[in-house]
Amino acid sequence: MHEMSLAEGIVQILESEAQKQQFTRVKEVCLEVGDLAGVELDALEFSFDVVTRQTLAEGCSLAIESVPGSAYCFDCAVEVPLARRGQPCPKCAGYSLQVVGGTQMRVKSLEVE
Ligand SMILES: [Zn+2]
Repeated sequence: MHEMSLAEGIVQILESEAQKQQFTRVKEVCLEVGDLAGVELDALEFSFDVVTRQTLAEGCSLAIESVPGSAYCFDCAVEVPLARRGQPCPKCAGYSLQVVGGTQMRVKSLEVE
């Protein structure tokens, strides 16, 4: 389950931020997750609960904002919305698409003390 390693990556980010910014507790983490990032949100929430035990983020809440996917259509020469990979262009129904947005996962903000 790759959500477990994603959750571990988040905890590493939190720990290095804690050193830089001198905080000791994380109360809330706000994550941005792209619709095309291939992340199962339920699995990520579960993994996050598990990996934050005994860490500075134990018991902290996880807020997830999803970011819509988008792709560039070479036939239409415009950027179009894309709900998931493998779907055709919503304008021309073609498949000359390159995914350009909604693939990332990042920590957007933290509430700390
Ligand atoms: Zn198109």
